[in-house]
Amino acid sequence: MSDKMQVYMDNAATTKLCDEAWVAMQPYFREQFYNPSSLYMGAQRVHKAVEDARRTVAEALHADPKEIIFTGGGSEGDNAVLRGIVQGYAGKGKHIITTAAEHHAVLHTLELMQTRGEVELTILPVDEFGMVTAAQIRAALRPDTILVSVIFANNEVGSINPIAEIGALCRAANVVFHTDAVQALGHIPVDVQALHIDLLTLTAHKFHGPKGVGALYARRGIRLMPQISGGGQERGRRAGTENVPGIVGMAVALLKAVAHMPETTARIQALRDRLLCEIPARIPEVKLNGHPTARLPNNVNFSIRYIEGESILLMLDLNGIAASSGSACTSGSLDPSHVLLAMGLPHEIAHGSLRLTLSEYTTDAEIDYVLDILPQIVTRLRAMSPLYNVP
Ligand SMILES: *Cc1c(COP(=O)(O)O)cnc(C)c1O
Repeated sequence: MSDKMQVYMDNAATTKLCDEAWVAMQPYFREQFYNPSSLYMGAQRVHKAVEDARRTVAEALHADPKEIIFTGGGSEGDNAVLRGIVQGYAGKGKHIITTAAEHHAVLHTLELMQTRGEVELTILPVDEFGMVTAAQIRAALRPDTILVSVIFANNEVGSINPIAEIGALCRAANVVFHTDAVQALGHIPVDVQALHIDLLTLTAHKFHGPKGVGALYARRGIRLMPQISGGGQERGRRAGTENVPGIVGMAVALLKAVAHMPETTARIQALRDRLLCEIPARIPEVKLNGHPTARLPNNVNFSIRYIEGESILLMLDLNGIAASSGSACTSGSLDPSHVLLAMGLPHEIAHGSLRLTLSEYTTDAEIDYVLDILPQIVTRLRAMSPLYNVP
Protein backbone atom coordinates (compact mmCIF):
# COMPACT_ATOMS: atom_id res chain seq x y z
CA MET A 1 0.00 0.00 0.00
CA SER A 2 2.94 2.35 0.50
CA ASP A 3 3.69 2.97 -3.18
CA LYS A 4 0.08 2.98 -4.33
CA MET A 5 -0.79 4.82 -7.52
CA GLN A 6 -2.95 7.91 -7.60
CA VAL A 7 -5.55 7.39 -10.30
CA TYR A 8 -8.06 10.04 -11.32
CA MET A 9 -11.06 8.50 -13.09
CA ASP A 10 -13.70 11.13 -12.43
CA ASN A 11 -13.30 13.27 -15.53
CA ALA A 12 -17.05 13.67 -15.97
CA ALA A 13 -17.03 15.64 -12.70
CA THR A 14 -14.14 17.85 -13.71
CA THR A 15 -10.81 17.62 -15.52
CA LYS A 16 -7.27 18.73 -14.87
CA LEU A 17 -6.31 22.02 -16.53
CA CYS A 18 -4.06 21.26 -19.52
CA ASP A 19 -0.58 22.80 -19.65
CA GLU A 20 -1.40 24.80 -22.77
CA ALA A 21 -4.37 26.53 -21.10
CA TRP A 22 -2.42 27.14 -17.88
CA VAL A 23 0.40 28.86 -19.77
CA ALA A 24 -1.97 30.88 -21.98
CA MET A 25 -4.00 32.13 -19.01
CA GLN A 26 -1.16 33.41 -16.84
CA PRO A 27 -0.45 36.80 -18.48
CA TYR A 28 -4.10 37.79 -18.07
CA PHE A 29 -4.01 37.62 -14.27
CA ARG A 30 -1.19 40.15 -13.86
CA GLU A 31 0.48 41.94 -16.79
CA GLN A 32 -2.60 41.99 -19.01
CA PHE A 33 -5.13 42.68 -16.26
CA TYR A 34 -6.96 45.49 -18.08
CA ASN A 35 -10.70 45.67 -18.52
CA PRO A 36 -11.44 44.69 -22.13
CA SER A 37 -14.08 47.43 -22.32
CA SER A 38 -11.57 50.23 -21.63
CA LEU A 39 -10.13 52.40 -24.36
CA TYR A 40 -6.34 52.45 -23.85
CA MET A 41 -4.08 50.22 -25.84
CA GLY A 42 -3.42 47.63 -23.11
CA ALA A 43 -7.17 47.13 -22.72
CA GLN A 44 -7.63 46.81 -26.45
CA ARG A 45 -5.08 44.00 -26.49
CA VAL A 46 -7.10 42.22 -23.82
CA HIS A 47 -10.26 42.87 -25.82
CA LYS A 48 -8.60 41.28 -28.82
CA ALA A 49 -7.67 38.20 -26.76
CA VAL A 50 -11.34 37.81 -25.77
CA GLU A 51 -12.49 38.17 -29.36
CA ASP A 52 -9.86 35.71 -30.60
CA ALA A 53 -11.13 33.23 -28.03
CA ARG A 54 -14.70 33.85 -29.21
CA ARG A 55 -13.65 33.03 -32.77
CA THR A 56 -11.94 29.82 -31.61
CA VAL A 57 -15.03 28.67 -29.70
CA ALA A 58 -17.27 29.58 -32.65
CA GLU A 59 -15.11 27.63 -35.09
CA ALA A 60 -15.10 24.57 -32.84
CA LEU A 61 -18.92 24.57 -32.99
CA HIS A 62 -19.25 25.68 -36.64
CA ALA A 63 -20.97 28.83 -35.44
CA ASP A 64 -20.49 32.55 -36.03
CA PRO A 65 -18.52 34.45 -33.34
CA LYS A 66 -21.54 36.73 -32.84
CA GLU A 67 -23.49 33.67 -31.74
CA ILE A 68 -21.16 32.93 -28.80
CA ILE A 69 -21.92 34.31 -25.31
CA PHE A 70 -19.33 33.76 -22.59
CA THR A 71 -20.81 32.59 -19.28
CA GLY A 72 -19.77 31.41 -15.85
CA GLY A 73 -20.10 27.73 -16.80
CA GLY A 74 -22.60 24.99 -17.55
CA SER A 75 -25.17 25.64 -14.84
CA GLU A 76 -25.32 29.33 -15.72
CA GLY A 77 -25.68 28.50 -19.41
CA ASP A 78 -28.56 26.10 -18.79
CA ASN A 79 -30.30 28.59 -16.50
CA ALA A 80 -29.80 31.41 -19.01
CA VAL A 81 -31.43 29.33 -21.75
CA LEU A 82 -34.43 28.11 -19.76
CA ARG A 83 -35.27 31.44 -18.20
CA GLY A 84 -34.29 33.48 -21.25
CA ILE A 85 -36.45 31.48 -23.68
CA VAL A 86 -39.49 31.53 -21.38
CA GLN A 87 -39.27 35.33 -21.37
CA GLY A 88 -38.48 35.63 -25.07
CA TYR A 89 -41.32 33.40 -26.25
CA ALA A 90 -44.04 34.29 -23.73
CA GLY A 91 -46.26 35.26 -26.66
CA LYS A 92 -46.17 31.72 -28.04
CA GLY A 93 -46.74 29.78 -24.85
CA LYS A 94 -44.90 28.22 -21.94
CA HIS A 95 -44.70 24.53 -22.74
CA ILE A 96 -41.24 22.96 -22.54
CA ILE A 97 -40.24 19.41 -23.43
CA THR A 98 -37.28 17.79 -21.73
CA THR A 99 -36.13 14.35 -20.57
CA ALA A 100 -35.93 12.52 -17.27
CA ALA A 101 -32.16 12.02 -17.70
CA GLU A 102 -31.12 15.69 -17.88
CA HIS A 103 -28.46 17.19 -15.66
CA HIS A 104 -29.89 18.81 -12.53
CA ALA A 105 -28.94 22.24 -13.91
CA VAL A 106 -31.79 21.71 -16.40
CA LEU A 107 -34.15 19.47 -14.45
CA HIS A 108 -34.13 21.27 -11.11
CA THR A 109 -34.39 24.65 -12.82
CA LEU A 110 -37.40 23.57 -14.86
CA GLU A 111 -39.09 21.93 -11.87
CA LEU A 112 -38.61 25.10 -9.87
CA MET A 113 -40.07 27.15 -12.72
CA GLN A 114 -43.00 24.75 -12.92
CA THR A 115 -43.84 25.13 -9.23
CA ARG A 116 -43.92 28.89 -9.83
CA GLY A 117 -46.28 28.44 -12.78
CA GLU A 118 -43.72 29.84 -15.22
CA VAL A 119 -43.66 26.73 -17.44
CA GLU A 120 -45.76 23.72 -18.33
CA LEU A 121 -43.43 20.78 -18.42
CA THR A 122 -43.36 17.51 -20.33
CA ILE A 123 -40.59 15.31 -18.93
CA LEU A 124 -40.17 12.47 -21.40
CA PRO A 125 -39.32 9.05 -20.00
CA VAL A 126 -36.02 7.56 -21.19
CA ASP A 127 -35.32 4.02 -22.37
CA GLU A 128 -33.14 1.46 -20.61
CA PHE A 129 -30.04 3.31 -21.90
CA GLY A 130 -31.16 6.74 -20.71
CA MET A 131 -32.04 7.94 -24.19
CA VAL A 132 -35.04 9.51 -25.95
CA THR A 133 -36.12 9.33 -29.60
CA ALA A 134 -37.17 12.02 -32.04
CA ALA A 135 -40.55 10.24 -32.29
CA GLN A 136 -41.13 10.81 -28.57
CA ILE A 137 -40.43 14.50 -29.03
CA ARG A 138 -42.73 14.70 -32.05
CA ALA A 139 -45.59 13.13 -30.07
CA ALA A 140 -45.10 15.61 -27.24
CA LEU A 141 -45.01 18.79 -29.37
CA ARG A 142 -47.89 21.24 -28.87
CA PRO A 143 -48.77 24.52 -30.58
CA ASP A 144 -47.60 26.31 -27.43
CA THR A 145 -44.27 24.44 -27.17
CA ILE A 146 -41.52 27.04 -26.90
CA LEU A 147 -38.48 24.87 -26.22
CA VAL A 148 -37.13 21.33 -26.47
CA SER A 149 -34.13 20.72 -24.21
CA VAL A 150 -32.31 17.39 -24.55
CA ILE A 151 -28.90 16.53 -23.11
CA PHE A 152 -26.36 15.70 -25.85
CA ALA A 153 -24.44 13.00 -23.98
CA ASN A 154 -25.43 11.88 -20.51
CA ASN A 155 -23.02 12.81 -17.74
CA GLU A 156 -23.68 9.68 -15.71
CA VAL A 157 -24.01 6.83 -18.19
CA GLY A 158 -22.48 8.43 -21.29
CA SER A 159 -25.31 7.61 -23.71
CA ILE A 160 -25.47 9.90 -26.73
CA ASN A 161 -28.94 11.07 -27.77
CA PRO A 162 -30.00 11.24 -31.46
CA ILE A 163 -29.33 14.99 -31.55
CA ALA A 164 -29.30 15.31 -35.37
CA GLU A 165 -32.78 13.81 -35.68
CA ILE A 166 -34.18 15.82 -32.80
CA GLY A 167 -32.62 18.98 -34.23
CA ALA A 168 -34.08 18.37 -37.67
CA LEU A 169 -37.50 17.67 -36.19
CA CYS A 170 -37.51 20.84 -34.07
CA ARG A 171 -36.28 22.96 -36.98
CA ALA A 172 -39.09 21.61 -39.20
CA ALA A 173 -41.64 22.21 -36.42
CA ASN A 174 -40.25 25.71 -35.81
CA VAL A 175 -39.55 24.99 -32.14
CA VAL A 176 -36.37 26.21 -30.44
CA PHE A 177 -33.96 23.35 -29.65
CA HIS A 178 -31.43 23.48 -26.81
CA THR A 179 -28.86 20.87 -25.93
CA ASP A 180 -26.64 20.68 -22.86
CA ALA A 181 -23.48 19.53 -24.64
CA VAL A 182 -21.20 19.88 -21.62
CA GLN A 183 -20.10 16.23 -21.73
CA ALA A 184 -19.93 16.02 -25.52
CA LEU A 185 -17.64 18.97 -26.26
CA GLY A 186 -14.05 17.94 -26.79
CA HIS A 187 -14.98 14.25 -26.88
CA ILE A 188 -17.19 13.88 -29.95
CA PRO A 189 -17.74 16.18 -32.95
CA VAL A 190 -20.35 18.89 -32.37
CA ASP A 191 -21.54 20.90 -35.38
CA VAL A 192 -24.45 23.20 -34.56
CA GLN A 193 -25.27 23.71 -38.26
CA ALA A 194 -25.37 20.05 -39.26
CA LEU A 195 -27.26 19.11 -36.10
CA HIS A 196 -29.79 22.00 -36.32
CA ILE A 197 -29.04 23.17 -32.79
CA ASP A 198 -30.43 26.58 -31.76
CA LEU A 199 -28.91 26.82 -28.29
CA LEU A 200 -26.01 24.91 -26.80
CA THR A 201 -24.37 24.94 -23.37
CA LEU A 202 -20.72 24.16 -22.73
CA THR A 203 -18.32 24.56 -19.81
CA ALA A 204 -14.53 24.71 -19.93
CA HIS A 205 -13.64 22.53 -16.94
CA LYS A 206 -15.02 19.39 -18.59
CA PHE A 207 -12.43 19.57 -21.40
CA HIS A 208 -9.26 20.51 -19.47
CA GLY A 209 -10.06 24.21 -19.30
CA PRO A 210 -10.52 26.26 -16.10
CA LYS A 211 -13.55 26.15 -13.79
CA GLY A 212 -16.15 28.90 -13.61
CA VAL A 213 -16.19 29.77 -17.30
CA GLY A 214 -18.26 28.48 -20.19
CA ALA A 215 -20.07 29.54 -23.30
CA LEU A 216 -23.52 29.54 -24.75
CA TYR A 217 -24.19 29.23 -28.46
CA ALA A 218 -27.36 31.13 -29.38
CA ARG A 219 -28.27 30.95 -33.04
CA ARG A 220 -28.87 34.30 -34.70
CA GLY A 221 -32.54 35.25 -34.46
CA ILE A 222 -33.32 33.23 -31.32
CA ARG A 223 -35.05 35.49 -28.78
CA LEU A 224 -33.01 34.80 -25.68
CA MET A 225 -33.69 37.37 -22.97
CA PRO A 226 -30.62 38.25 -20.87
CA GLN A 227 -30.65 37.10 -17.23
CA ILE A 228 -27.76 39.25 -16.00
CA SER A 229 -28.20 42.93 -16.74
CA GLY A 230 -25.78 45.77 -16.17
CA GLY A 231 -23.05 46.79 -18.58
CA GLY A 232 -23.29 46.07 -22.27
CA GLN A 233 -20.82 43.17 -22.33
CA GLU A 234 -21.50 40.19 -24.61
CA ARG A 235 -23.60 42.46 -26.86
CA GLY A 236 -25.99 43.11 -24.00
CA ARG A 237 -26.69 39.43 -23.48
CA ARG A 238 -24.62 38.84 -20.33
CA ALA A 239 -23.44 41.78 -18.28
CA GLY A 240 -20.29 41.72 -16.20
CA THR A 241 -16.58 42.22 -16.78
CA GLU A 242 -15.31 39.25 -18.73
CA ASN A 243 -13.40 36.44 -17.00
CA VAL A 244 -10.48 37.08 -19.32
CA PRO A 245 -8.01 34.42 -18.09
CA GLY A 246 -10.84 31.89 -18.02
CA ILE A 247 -12.05 32.74 -21.51
CA VAL A 248 -8.51 32.56 -22.91
CA GLY A 249 -7.85 29.24 -21.15
CA MET A 250 -11.15 27.79 -22.33
CA ALA A 251 -10.41 28.62 -25.97
CA VAL A 252 -6.94 27.10 -25.83
CA ALA A 253 -8.23 23.91 -24.18
CA LEU A 254 -11.09 23.59 -26.67
CA LEU A 255 -8.84 24.18 -29.67
CA LYS A 256 -6.47 21.51 -28.40
CA ALA A 257 -9.26 19.03 -27.71
CA VAL A 258 -10.88 19.53 -31.11
CA ALA A 259 -7.62 19.54 -33.08
CA HIS A 260 -6.46 16.23 -31.60
CA MET A 261 -9.86 14.62 -31.21
CA PRO A 262 -9.49 11.64 -33.60
CA GLU A 263 -6.20 10.42 -32.07
CA THR A 264 -7.13 11.22 -28.47
CA THR A 265 -10.54 9.61 -28.80
CA ALA A 266 -9.08 6.45 -30.30
CA ARG A 267 -6.58 6.15 -27.47
CA ILE A 268 -9.09 6.86 -24.67
CA GLN A 269 -11.63 4.54 -26.22
CA ALA A 270 -9.12 1.68 -26.38
CA LEU A 271 -8.41 2.13 -22.66
CA ARG A 272 -12.12 2.45 -21.93
CA ASP A 273 -12.84 -0.74 -23.87
CA ARG A 274 -10.43 -2.67 -21.67
CA LEU A 275 -12.56 -1.67 -18.67
CA LEU A 276 -15.81 -2.46 -20.51
CA CYS A 277 -14.47 -5.87 -21.43
CA GLU A 278 -12.50 -6.84 -18.33
CA ILE A 279 -14.75 -5.65 -15.51
CA PRO A 280 -17.56 -8.09 -16.39
CA ALA A 281 -14.95 -10.79 -17.06
CA ARG A 282 -13.39 -10.37 -13.62
CA ILE A 283 -16.44 -9.52 -11.52
CA PRO A 284 -19.60 -11.65 -11.60
CA GLU A 285 -23.05 -10.02 -11.57
CA VAL A 286 -22.26 -6.60 -12.93
CA LYS A 287 -24.46 -4.74 -15.38
CA LEU A 288 -23.30 -2.10 -17.85
CA ASN A 289 -25.34 1.10 -17.57
CA GLY A 290 -25.83 3.22 -20.68
CA HIS A 291 -25.76 2.31 -24.33
CA PRO A 292 -23.10 -0.26 -25.33
CA THR A 293 -22.02 1.65 -28.47
CA ALA A 294 -23.77 5.04 -28.62
CA ARG A 295 -21.81 6.28 -25.64
CA LEU A 296 -19.04 8.72 -24.84
CA PRO A 297 -15.58 7.29 -25.55
CA ASN A 298 -14.42 7.99 -21.97
CA ASN A 299 -17.37 6.69 -19.93
CA VAL A 300 -17.76 3.43 -18.04
CA ASN A 301 -20.72 2.91 -15.71
CA PHE A 302 -21.49 -0.43 -14.05
CA SER A 303 -23.98 -1.52 -11.45
CA ILE A 304 -22.26 -3.94 -9.13
CA ARG A 305 -24.92 -6.04 -7.47
CA TYR A 306 -25.25 -6.60 -3.73
CA ILE A 307 -23.03 -3.71 -2.64
CA GLU A 308 -23.37 0.02 -2.16
CA GLY A 309 -21.72 2.39 -4.62
CA GLU A 310 -20.58 4.52 -1.69
CA SER A 311 -18.63 1.67 -0.08
CA ILE A 312 -16.90 0.87 -3.38
CA LEU A 313 -15.93 4.53 -3.71
CA LEU A 314 -14.49 4.65 -0.20
CA MET A 315 -12.44 1.50 -0.76
CA LEU A 316 -11.23 2.75 -4.13
CA ASP A 317 -10.22 6.00 -2.48
CA LEU A 318 -8.22 4.13 0.15
CA ASN A 319 -6.35 2.61 -2.80
CA GLY A 320 -5.71 5.97 -4.45
CA ILE A 321 -8.47 5.72 -7.06
CA ALA A 322 -10.84 8.69 -7.47
CA ALA A 323 -14.15 7.61 -9.03
CA SER A 324 -17.80 8.42 -8.68
CA SER A 325 -21.17 6.80 -8.37
CA GLY A 326 -23.69 8.72 -10.39
CA SER A 327 -22.91 12.40 -10.64
CA ALA A 328 -20.68 14.49 -8.42
CA CYS A 329 -23.64 16.59 -7.40
CA THR A 330 -25.56 13.66 -5.94
CA SER A 331 -22.75 11.80 -4.24
CA GLY A 332 -22.78 12.72 -0.62
CA SER A 333 -26.54 12.22 -0.62
CA LEU A 334 -27.94 8.73 -0.19
CA ASP A 335 -30.49 9.03 -2.98
CA PRO A 336 -29.71 6.83 -5.96
CA SER A 337 -29.15 8.57 -9.26
CA HIS A 338 -32.28 10.00 -10.92
CA VAL A 339 -30.83 8.92 -14.26
CA LEU A 340 -30.46 5.26 -13.28
CA LEU A 341 -33.93 5.24 -11.74
CA ALA A 342 -35.37 6.81 -14.91
CA MET A 343 -33.68 4.02 -16.88
CA GLY A 344 -35.76 1.56 -14.89
CA LEU A 345 -33.10 0.21 -12.56
CA PRO A 346 -34.49 -0.99 -9.23
CA HIS A 347 -33.35 1.06 -6.21
CA GLU A 348 -30.99 -1.58 -4.85
CA ILE A 349 -29.18 -1.94 -8.19
CA ALA A 350 -29.07 1.81 -8.81
CA HIS A 351 -27.37 2.12 -5.41
CA GLY A 352 -24.46 -0.07 -6.46
CA SER A 353 -23.31 1.97 -9.44
CA LEU A 354 -19.75 2.93 -10.24
CA ARG A 355 -18.75 5.51 -12.85
CA LEU A 356 -15.20 5.62 -14.17
CA THR A 357 -14.49 8.45 -16.59
CA LEU A 358 -11.18 8.66 -18.42
CA SER A 359 -9.19 11.46 -20.02
CA GLU A 360 -6.24 11.91 -22.34
CA TYR A 361 -4.05 11.68 -19.24
CA THR A 362 -5.27 8.17 -18.37
CA THR A 363 -2.56 5.52 -18.83
CA ASP A 364 -2.47 1.80 -19.51
CA ALA A 365 -0.86 1.27 -16.13
CA GLU A 366 -3.79 3.02 -14.44
CA ILE A 367 -6.25 0.72 -16.19
CA ASP A 368 -4.18 -2.29 -15.07
CA TYR A 369 -4.22 -1.00 -11.52
CA VAL A 370 -8.01 -0.47 -11.46
CA LEU A 371 -8.57 -3.91 -12.99
CA ASP A 372 -6.39 -5.37 -10.25
CA ILE A 373 -7.87 -3.48 -7.28
CA LEU A 374 -11.57 -3.34 -8.16
CA PRO A 375 -12.27 -7.10 -8.18
CA GLN A 376 -10.52 -7.44 -4.79
CA ILE A 377 -12.67 -4.67 -3.33
CA VAL A 378 -15.87 -6.19 -4.69
CA THR A 379 -14.99 -9.61 -3.32
CA ARG A 380 -14.29 -8.16 0.10
CA LEU A 381 -17.46 -6.05 0.22
CA ARG A 382 -19.65 -8.87 -1.04
CA ALA A 383 -18.26 -11.17 1.62
CA MET A 384 -19.63 -8.70 4.19
CA SER A 385 -22.91 -8.11 2.37
CA PRO A 386 -26.03 -9.75 3.81
CA LEU A 387 -27.55 -9.54 0.31
CA TYR A 388 -24.90 -11.67 -1.32
CA ASN A 389 -25.44 -15.42 -1.15
CA VAL A 390 -22.13 -17.16 -1.47
CA PRO A 391 -22.91 -20.17 -3.64
C1 LIG B 1 -20.85 19.48 -15.27
C2 LIG B 1 -22.15 19.60 -15.99
C3 LIG B 1 -22.93 20.76 -15.91
C4 LIG B 1 -22.59 21.89 -14.97
O1 LIG B 1 -21.49 22.63 -15.40
P1 LIG B 1 -20.78 23.64 -14.36
O2 LIG B 1 -19.77 24.34 -15.18
O3 LIG B 1 -20.17 22.77 -13.30
O4 LIG B 1 -21.83 24.53 -13.83
C5 LIG B 1 -24.08 20.84 -16.65
N1 LIG B 1 -24.46 19.83 -17.45
C6 LIG B 1 -23.74 18.70 -17.57
C7 LIG B 1 -24.20 17.63 -18.48
C8 LIG B 1 -22.57 18.54 -16.84
O5 LIG B 1 -21.88 17.40 -16.93
